Amino acid sequence: MKLDLSEIALNLGKRISYEIDEPPIEDPEMGIRCTKPITGKVTFTNAGRHIVMRGRINTTIEVECARCLGPYLIELKDLPLEEELPLVGHVPEIIEDEEVLEDENEPLFVENILDFTELLRQTIEVTVPIKALCSEECKGLCPHCGKDLNTGPCGCPPDTETTAFGELASLLKEDEQQSEG
Ligand SMILES: [Zn+2]
Ligand SMILES: [Zn+2]
Repeated sequence: MKLDLSEIALNLGKRISYEIDEPPIEDPEMGIRCTKPITGKVTFTNAGRHIVMRGRINTTIEVECARCLGPYLIELKDLPLEEELPLVGHVPEIIEDEEVLEDENEPLFVENILDFTELLRQTIEVTVPIKALCSEECKGLCPHCGKDLNTGPCGCPPDTETTAFGELASLLKEDEQQSEG
């Protein structure tokens, strides 16, 4: 959704609230898949040099567990939306000592039109954990057969005995037994 904020941009002190109800965002490249619409509320206020955006959003995203690679859901509740959208034409003549804006991607706010969907996407993106685990106790996949160990043990021998030394030791044992017999 693109929001036309012209009315706010042209009126100092103007404040408008929106109820957010956006369709789920899917961005496989960034590992984002919302399973629910994005809802919430946002307020835009013309603060002179910029429009202050404040709001909260709710949705549920599906992410992949770093251990078992299984999908699981993270509920995002009251995720804060905070942004200051610079107003063109309201830049003071004397440039004050302001923080230099970090290299941002494409501007989301151009000619009073806000790319709201992209803003939501970016907001959700930064909350997606890099190493997400479906649970702290996730047992992950068996390194040998690949079975999801959360669903039960696989047929592989326990890890401690499958080290190179362990295998060697068991081979030697078999040899001894054979030579004895
Ligand atoms: Zn897992
Ligand atoms: Zn296994």
